[in-house]
Amino acid sequence: MKIHEYQARNLLEQAGIPTLPGDVATTPSEARKIAERFTGQVVVKAQIHAGGRGKAGGVKVVSTPDEAGVAAASMLGRRLVTHQTPSGGVLVRKVLVAAAADIADELYVAVVMDGDLGVPVVMASTEGGVEIEHVAETTPEKIMRVPGDPLIGFSPYRARDMAYALGVPAELVRPTADLIVKLYRLFVDKDCSLVEVNPLVVTRPSKPGEVARIIALDAKVTLEDDALFRHPELQALHDPDQEEPLELRAAAAELSYVKLEGGRVGCMVNGAGLAMATMDITKWAGADPANFLDVGGSADEKRVEEAYRILVDDKDVEVILINLFGGILRCDAAARGIVAGAKATRHDLPIIVAMRGTNADEGLKILGDSGLKVSTAADLAGAAEGLKTILASMPAKGAHHAQGGGR
Ligand code: GDP
Ligand code: MN
Repeated sequence: MKIHEYQARNLLEQAGIPTLPGDVATTPSEARKIAERFTGQVVVKAQIHAGGRGKAGGVKVVSTPDEAGVAAASMLGRRLVTHQTPSGGVLVRKVLVAAAADIADELYVAVVMDGDLGVPVVMASTEGGVEIEHVAETTPEKIMRVPGDPLIGFSPYRARDMAYALGVPAELVRPTADLIVKLYRLFVDKDCSLVEVNPLVVTRPSKPGEVARIIALDAKVTLEDDALFRHPELQALHDPDQEEPLELRAAAAELSYVKLEGGRVGCMVNGAGLAMATMDITKWAGADPANFLDVGGSADEKRVEEAYRILVDDKDVEVILINLFGGILRCDAAARGIVAGAKATRHDLPIIVAMRGTNADEGLKILGDSGLKVSTAADLAGAAEGLKTILASMPAKGAHHAQGGGR
């Protein structure tokens, strides 16, 4: 589960990591009032579950409360499009108004789970503020990776090594090492899948006698869904507004639905292995999946029908590929669910169905007799061929949308 920056900043603060004070506003006048609490510059930041806001007009440093109101008005109620959002952007309903930092240096630090090592690793780089994906691609040697230890955590001396390597001023080595250890502890304590601070900044002292500080200026925290039951206080941070409506509907029906950008094939499967195989054959047939929906092993007719309805409510879907293995979910029940879903929705869509296992013959017969545009297959290879044939008879992707006046 993703959470907002302002919520992540609160978690960081509770963990003893320095951030700058701020509050969230839902209107420009609220934003102005919050800005009045601070003396110097403030920063107004769109709160969406995506990064890249800086380059997209979603982060503005301003000098007066009135300017903060204007900046908030430019963001609230608009859709912000960044390289991390879907192409249509995400609606901004809240902005964070916070004291701004005078920045001397922008660094990067994150904790992620390393799937190969099976432990959390701390990643850090002097190249903060910019897209870390770009650094990883072009100059991977500029990203340090240091694994933690599941038993002892992240040892302070390794954190100190990292702080030195980040090149922070001598007096900030200790606070930076301390911050790294606390970030790691936060990652473990809250069962996160990602804790990322980009940028982590070294501030520029504004008056004589003031000292440089190390501060988490941006914060991204993603929580591991499967561990959320252990953290009721974190569950409360869920913001359904930020999620795809179809993903919410799928979650309510206990279906796993994942939207994929740029494809035209809607995929229904039961089980992760079939999901992978189904996406592979979709690509083999020359198309991309628009989504995939896993109904799970113990679905029934009703759940398959709802799954089908969710699948076709994705307007990118032009053809449907269903790949099921009958077990607890019998194929005949699945077939009835598919037919019910198709008859109630876009019944003219071509459907390819591969079924094996319990009552497969019965299921395939129900589909064949349904009057829908179904081609059935007994196995994956048959489904792949079927998809290829159907794709060959369809206009190129997007062509019929254009005829309809575009979208
Ligand atoms: P993101 O683009 O969505 O990751 O948003 P960030 O919070 O990382 O902000 C993007 C960039 O805006 C940062 O890299 C900074 O350069 C700049 N920025 C953000 N907050 C401040 C601030 O308080 N003061 C100054 N001077 N710049 C800031
Ligand atoms: Mn950032």
